[in-house]
Amino acid sequence: MKTKDEKSAYHRKYSKDRRREDPAFRERESRNSRNRYHTLRRVLLAHYGKDGTAMCCWPGCGIIDPDMLTLDHIHGGGTKHRKQCGAGNKFLNWIVRSKFPAIFQTLCWNHQWKKRLAMQQSDLAEIQLQECDRNDRTQYKLTY
Ligand SMILES: [Zn+2]
Repeated sequence: MKTKDEKSAYHRKYSKDRRREDPAFRERESRNSRNRYHTLRRVLLAHYGKDGTAMCCWPGCGIIDPDMLTLDHIHGGGTKHRKQCGAGNKFLNWIVRSKFPAIFQTLCWNHQWKKRLAMQQSDLAEIQLQECDRNDRTQYKLTY
C-alpha cells in the first residue's frame, strides 16, 4: 500500500514523463489547466465582488467584464504574496485552501490602479477600509 505522498510523487513523475513524450497529452493538460484557471477565477471574482457578483467593489463602479476585473489585496502586499504562494492556478488554489480569507476584493484594473496611486500619495489618500458584515464572512469595501 502506497502512502499519499508516494502516490503524489508517482503521479507527478507520470505526468512529467507523459507531457514530455506525448504532445496530445501535453496540449490536453494545458487546456484543462487553463479551463480550471478561468472557471476558478470567475468563482473567486464573484465571491469577492460587489454583492456576491463578479463586479468591481469600488463605489459607483459597475464593471462586470471578467477580463477587466482583478483580485485586489485589500491591505496591499500582493506582489510579495504572489511570490510566496505562486501565480495563476497556484495563487487561486491558495485562496481556496485558505478558505477564502477576507483579504481580497474584486476591483477593476482602473480602480486597482487608482487605489494604488492614492495609497502611494498618502496626503491624497482619503480611502479608508470599512469593515462590514455580509452573509457569513467579513468583507471590506473601499469608501471615500
Ligand atoms: Zn471599478
